[in-house]
Amino acid sequence: MLTIGLLGGMSWQSTVEYYRIANELVAARLGGLHSARLVMSSVDFAEIGQLQRSGQWDVAGQVLAQEARNLQAAGADMVLICTNTMHKVADQVAAAITVPLVHLADTTAAAVRAEGVRKVALLGTAFTMEQDFYRDRLASHGLEVLVPPAEDRELVHRVIFEELCVGVVRDESRQAYREIITRLVEQGAEGVILGCTEIELLISPDDCPVPSFPTTRLHIGAAVDRALELTSV
Ligand code: GLU
Repeated sequence: MLTIGLLGGMSWQSTVEYYRIANELVAARLGGLHSARLVMSSVDFAEIGQLQRSGQWDVAGQVLAQEARNLQAAGADMVLICTNTMHKVADQVAAAITVPLVHLADTTAAAVRAEGVRKVALLGTAFTMEQDFYRDRLASHGLEVLVPPAEDRELVHRVIFEELCVGVVRDESRQAYREIITRLVEQGAEGVILGCTEIELLISPDDCPVPSFPTTRLHIGAAVDRALELTSV
């Protein structure tokens, strides 16, 4: 089994899910006492969040690149950046290591296409919904991406940082997200990407009238597949 490298802490609420799901998937596949081989580097999200808000993406990229080097030195055979947003600096991180970076947007796009969906709604942080780095990556896989209007984007972003990233899950926010998803479906969305690793703590497939794509589960699932493909167990 290959060793998965998790670059986490952004936020730790979803990094916990990466760890839990990785172990559940390996146990389901191999049985018995099997569990995932992994190493983790978990940053202080307050520091990264400050760099996001001040637009210092290059500095944030340098920080994450060093963490990725540390993961490789610790034995990681692949590295995952455990947040959609920080894929803004994915190229910088990938350039710092010689093991593969498992790109979250690529694993998500593959799942969306496998479902036969071409026009897909995207919920995430304002950075993810409004900047090009993530939407362009999805578009490069042939997907048409719909994002909510400004007022709804503000709500989605605020719930992520003020609630989900600090472990607060509110029914009112779930209802607000449901209504935003419904409006995007009415505009033609055939699926919805839960494009922030904390959103699946709030929204389940039952909350969506179309197929939903939980990026945390898809990302770590792709890594576990990769880790197990080469195993002889
Ligand atoms: N975990 C979130 C994401 O997937 C937001 C935290 C961040 O800004 O990195 O985008």
